[in-house]
Amino acid sequence: IDERFDAIVVGAGMAGNAAALTLAQRGLKVLQLERGEYSGSKNVQGAILYADMLEKLIPDFREDAPLERHLVEQRFWMVDENSHTGLHYRSDDFNEEKPNRYTIIRAQFDKWFSKRVQEAGAVVLCETTVKELIQDARGKVIGVKTDRKNGQVAADVVVLAEGVNGLLGTRAGLRERPDASKVALAVKEMHFLPQETLEARFNLTGDEGAVIEVVGTISEGMTGMGFIYTNKESISLGIGCLVSDFEKSGQTPYGLLEKFKSHPSVSALIAGSEVKEYAAHLIPEGGYNAIPQLYGDGWVVVGDAAQLNNAIHREGSNLAMTSGRIAAEAIFQIKSRRDPMTAENLALYKKMLDDSFVMKDLKKYRDMPELLHIRAQNFFLTYPQLVSKAMKEFVRVDGVTKKEKQKSTLRSFLAARSLKGIVGDAWSLARAWR
Ligand code: FAD
Repeated sequence: IDERFDAIVVGAGMAGNAAALTLAQRGLKVLQLERGEYSGSKNVQGAILYADMLEKLIPDFREDAPLERHLVEQRFWMVDENSHTGLHYRSDDFNEEKPNRYTIIRAQFDKWFSKRVQEAGAVVLCETTVKELIQDARGKVIGVKTDRKNGQVAADVVVLAEGVNGLLGTRAGLRERPDASKVALAVKEMHFLPQETLEARFNLTGDEGAVIEVVGTISEGMTGMGFIYTNKESISLGIGCLVSDFEKSGQTPYGLLEKFKSHPSVSALIAGSEVKEYAAHLIPEGGYNAIPQLYGDGWVVVGDAAQLNNAIHREGSNLAMTSGRIAAEAIFQIKSRRDPMTAENLALYKKMLDDSFVMKDLKKYRDMPELLHIRAQNFFLTYPQLVSKAMKEFVRVDGVTKKEKQKSTLRSFLAARSLKGIVGDAWSLARAWR
């Protein structure tokens, strides 16, 4: 490749596509490189797509994007071995003209997104792995080296949208690899069912969809969560826990997934389904405190590679799209002023990101990842077990007086955590949440 580009975008996931699309729409000469056979071929996500962030990029996306179901119901379950205690929110308000959240299948969605990027004028090369960043004598990134023959390309700026592993950036010394306590390993399966069976099981009609998020004994005391998302004719089901917790406990992701599927509240939902896909992927979970340097001379980093993920609200793709768009807008502004792509000028990206919901939300929850990690046994095992026991006592009618039942419930809470422990957990959770 002999040409010189205004910008090179590495990766064609949510962040890379948002960046490449915005740069191309603003008239910049963009090259996007993706190691997969096509955009989406390497991507794994639950997946929920947040319309607002995509609408800012492609206002008419609902016309032809491959969307599965729009969400009208969100369930949160706390489980022990045999039961679940649930919080359900369902609203007909979500049956709106322009729904807010959709389930998607990333392989199909990313392919569609990439088509829009190409139509906007970006040059997209798949099956091309960027091997390293090219830096000048002063360390400024001036291009990339790919695995193609004579595959060196120069550009004013490189947008690193290479996902959670972020090998290029770490190899070039631009940031450190996130440690094992800051990334979760998630495994996921697709369970296919006839549409009418799926809709009857989840109480859905038309394009309505539901999501179930599950914490409790399924993660064996590790920081983690299970999820169930409804697609048109399939269910995405998976579980993820921190890599450092897997290392310490000796549990395997596949073992946890089997346990999750065999839970009585879950097995009934997937009974008789045909499993067609199995995938594993990392998720950045370190939050605000794990965010690396976001820009430098000739480069910016966006999306999962920048650890932009809000694990509390299960938001990743929207932060990826927003950071990709904002980085592109900053680059466009610098370019319009005919200024060079120096670290000093690219600091504009960080400033714009700081002013957006992305950094504000992550900053709000900055203490949450560590708290959930340190107190995982309490939050992911002890309390779900205690709540299940309390609920069982509460609803079972067996001649034991209500007063005795209340005493027994209180005794089990105090025996498991002590009053000081419960107050301490509640206080630290409230502080991290504020
Ligand atoms: P990615 O989507 O990972 O894209 C990176 C791309 O870069 C890939 O296509 C990769 O092939 C390419 N690449 C990497 N290195 C190179 C290289 N050297 N050369 C060329 N190409 C390269 N988020 C949500 O918002 N909602 C959800 O419901 C949700 N559920 C999830 C469930 C699971 C199981 C997982 C794993 C994640 C989930 N996420 C969810 C998070 C979401 O998937 C990510 O935040 C999002 O995909 C990040 O986008 P990205 O573009 O930064 O990275």
